[in-house]
Amino acid sequence: MGRVIVFGSLSQDLHLPMQRHPRTGETVMSGDIEYRFGGKGANQAVAAARAGVGSVFVGKVGDDPQGREYVERLRIFGVDTSQMEIVEDAPTGTAIIYNDKDGENMIVVAPGANHRMGMADLDRLDDLTGEDVLLMPLELPLDVVAAAAWRGHERGARVMLNLAPFAELPADVLALCDPVVVNEHEADLLAQAGLEVPELLTTLGAEGARWGDLTVPATPVTPVDTTGAGDAFCGTLAAALCRGADRAAALAEAAEAASANVLHHGAQPPLPAE
Ligand code: ADP
Repeated sequence: MGRVIVFGSLSQDLHLPMQRHPRTGETVMSGDIEYRFGGKGANQAVAAARAGVGSVFVGKVGDDPQGREYVERLRIFGVDTSQMEIVEDAPTGTAIIYNDKDGENMIVVAPGANHRMGMADLDRLDDLTGEDVLLMPLELPLDVVAAAAWRGHERGARVMLNLAPFAELPADVLALCDPVVVNEHEADLLAQAGLEVPELLTTLGAEGARWGDLTVPATPVTPVDTTGAGDAFCGTLAAALCRGADRAAALAEAAEAASANVLHHGAQPPLPAE
């Protein structure tokens, strides 16, 4: 059976709850810091593993305790970490999220090791086959993502792109992806950029998702935290397609998993007991 290969980012997320955001030059006090595991690539690799297919994460961490802990965490989720690299010259990717009392966020991302992914890492995709699905969000250098899409395509793998955070990629790269996944906001940006995508899948939050003529409703739930819903969707969709599910079945499975993912805090589910 094929595997899902996620070529992507990973980050340690530091959440700081505060009454209000600081102004330039000002110091404010925060509530207790909360450490969470994020990065779209890692979230998607975890979702694919949970959906029961082989899931390989191709990515980098720094030579620091955060990086080592994250690799171990992915391993416990059943993600194949053999294609991960610990780099000496950059720290593990980190995002600092300032949450104010009204729920507004300010986010600072230090990509660190994620931005040490380069053209040399395309060699890690050389064993892809026609049964595999290559899944990529856009938190890595864009020229590397575009080149990886071509490499996956040359190997006969199905290539899936998640245009998040939104960025413009060459039309020929978008055209070889099946599908390109966006949320409603990214769909608007794509339309504004005038980019045509033959196989566009749009997730619609609590309304579900649409892929061409197919639509699927979301499971009605009371969300606790919608962070990472799109990542759970993408990882599960890739797993279902890899297993040979047709589009309608894959869409339904992805929507169900994404709705379940909004019922816990954080982008990833709690760690399973080993
Ligand atoms: P993103 O997280 O990328 O912004 P969406 O908000 O569109 O993406 O959510 C992705 C998927 O997660 C949806 O297609 C849906 O299946 C599920 N989902 C998101 N929000 C909710 C919600 N409030 N209730 C139920 N399901 C949801």
